[in-house]
This record gives sequence, structure tokens and C-alpha cells, in this order.
Amino acid sequence: MSEIVMDELFKGVEPMVYASRINVPYHWWAGDTASKFFIALRDEKKILGARCDYCSMTFVPPRKTCPRCGAAEMKWADVAACGTVLAYTVVRRQMAAMPKKTPVVYALIKLDGAETGMLHMIDGVHPEHVKIGMRVRAQFAPERKGHIFDIEYFRPEG
Ligand SMILES: [Zn+2]
Repeated sequence: MSEIVMDELFKGVEPMVYASRINVPYHWWAGDTASKFFIALRDEKKILGARCDYCSMTFVPPRKTCPRCGAAEMKWADVAACGTVLAYTVVRRQMAAMPKKTPVVYALIKLDGAETGMLHMIDGVHPEHVKIGMRVRAQFAPERKGHIFDIEYFRPEG
């Protein structure tokens, strides 16, 4: 099996590169479950999960139906604004869609009272000091708009 390298494949082909821009404004409805979740963040600085009594799992963010067993009945459950880092990554390359200046630490955080990890950011600590198992607490934005960034980030607890 021969290996073709890109340089050979495009040898003699003039690279035609055009600058362009895509701007697609749109609106979407978050749905009743996510809307209630975002309203609780905005109005009460409260993080809601959805609990399935059939398999005893609490999901954050909440799910309308149980993704584990398929049950259609979910109950609202308050979960803590603090939890444990399950996994994380440090992003150092700045891209337009990123909400903060790099380095940005994205983490899966298992909030106390939940069985699942919630994706968010960690700040208030040097990225090299973030560890799996670290305890973190939600830092709510002073002005909240019903958005996942009503939690600005999670910071080390204590
Ligand atoms: Zn279930």
C-alpha cells in the first residue's frame, strides 16, 4: 500500500483561497424543560436537574425523558451549585466562538445531587492547577439573562 502525501497530491495546483463570511441570525425555542432550567438560573441562581425514579438517576442539564431507561416521567430536582471535576481540557487557541480569552478550561462537573457531568468552564485558578476530583462552585453572573453563562464559570471551592 503506497502512501500519498498531500504535497504530492496537490503538486502544481495553485491554491485558490477566498475570504468569505457567513452570518446566519436565527432564533430557537429552548423547549419547556430547558426553558425552566434557564429561568431558574436567571431568577433564582438555582441549578435544576431532572430525576428519573425508575433508574434513580438525576441528570444535569435536565432531560425531558430519561436518556438511560427511556422513562417518560421525570421529576424536577434541585442540585447543589458545587460539585466535582470529572474531566477537563485546557484550550489555548483563541477562536471567535469562545466566550472568554484563552486559556480556557472546559470541564465536566458532577454537581452534588446529580449523577451526570455538566459541561462548563473553570476559572479563578491557574489552568495547571486544575485537577480531576477538584471541588468547584458555580460563580453566577451579576446580571443574568436566562443562558448557560448565567453561571459565568466554576471556581475552586473554599
Ligand atoms: Zn431512567
